[in-house]
Amino acid sequence: MVDNNAWSAAKRTEEITYAVRDIILVADKAKAAGKDMIYLNIGDPNIYDFDTPPELIDAACSAMRGNRNGYAPSPGIPSAVEAIREDALRKGFKNVRDVFTSYGASEAIETCLAALADPGDNIIIPSPGYPLYSALNSKLSLQSKFYPLDEENDWQPNVDYISKNIDRRTKAIVLINPNNPTGSVCSRETLLEIIELARKHRLVIFSDEIYDRLIFDGNEHIPTASLADDVPIITFNGLSKCYLSPGWRIGWAITSGPKEIQPYIDGMQKMVRARLCINHPLQYAIPVALKGEHKHLPPTIEKLQKRRDIVCDRLNNITGISCVKPKGTFYVFPKLEIDVADDKFIKDLVLETGVVLVPGSGFGKLSSAGHFRLVFLPKPEILEKACSNIESFMQKYLKT
Ligand code: PLP
Repeated sequence: MVDNNAWSAAKRTEEITYAVRDIILVADKAKAAGKDMIYLNIGDPNIYDFDTPPELIDAACSAMRGNRNGYAPSPGIPSAVEAIREDALRKGFKNVRDVFTSYGASEAIETCLAALADPGDNIIIPSPGYPLYSALNSKLSLQSKFYPLDEENDWQPNVDYISKNIDRRTKAIVLINPNNPTGSVCSRETLLEIIELARKHRLVIFSDEIYDRLIFDGNEHIPTASLADDVPIITFNGLSKCYLSPGWRIGWAITSGPKEIQPYIDGMQKMVRARLCINHPLQYAIPVALKGEHKHLPPTIEKLQKRRDIVCDRLNNITGISCVKPKGTFYVFPKLEIDVADDKFIKDLVLETGVVLVPGSGFGKLSSAGHFRLVFLPKPEILEKACSNIESFMQKYLKT
């Protein structure tokens, strides 16, 4: 007798969605129908005209040729761990206590959540925000408590809302700064207010700073860990975005704060040892990246800033769309000024125009519906074409 439930997916998978890739199912239909496709859904610079800095490639290749192909120490090779620590100190981090490398920032985030919270605990996460956090919470049987970012306040976190939603099972507040999908950057005041809440309620802050070096108009990015020495702060970063190599899956976590967090660090280290190590030869690129001159950054930022300006000017001139100008990243999160469900609107737009965008509601349960995310990594002429397609679609839509 066959048990039909034996092979069904576990319940924890039911709530896991990832809008950025889910939209591809719709895009495939548009492609099959012969549309000229413009993919603006994935934050992968290497699909466009951005190349990994050659000195990083050289470091990784020579490590492979030098037979650095065995297992590495679990937290990472010493020169990489040291380079991450030194870079953090240069950025003003206080009380750095631990560093470990990970399979992209993603794995570090999962490890740090899993080592901190038990099933039923809750994690306070931004909305709009990168969907990995709610997906991991589902996987780990943790509750996601969303807090809104305020669009009319440059997408800053609503600190009052966070403070009203902390309860005795809250373990951490997540900050994504610069933010995916809004491109916003937190002000010093906002960071200090959030640190004060964490201090008062004895919470950990997860500060995802994976876009920290992609900042426009000379704006400043302030690392959360540079503002406090007595609050546990875990900062996530990696080579994926600022060093243009997301496919390498090289990330890390830096734990800073008071010495009382050692038991938590011990828990993380156990998990890190259990998965042996991350890609060994690619870790040799980390010191080269962090100690280097960052020559690739000024031209990368200049290109991105121009592309951001094109997209924001064009979108803000379309009746029915408005957008807050991003201060960093390569994303913009425009608002649909019409009464429509974003997933239906974006699906229709993809099918009719071939421009692939991500519906806003994929980025959290608050302040995200009625928006969409657009990646402005492609060349200007492609972005112009995409905006023209969006404009014609909107004009047609408004007439019906
Ligand atoms: N954090 C944020 C805010 C991101 O946008 C992303 C990827 O898009 C990640 C983490 C994942 O980084 P990684 O590719 O290093 O795992």
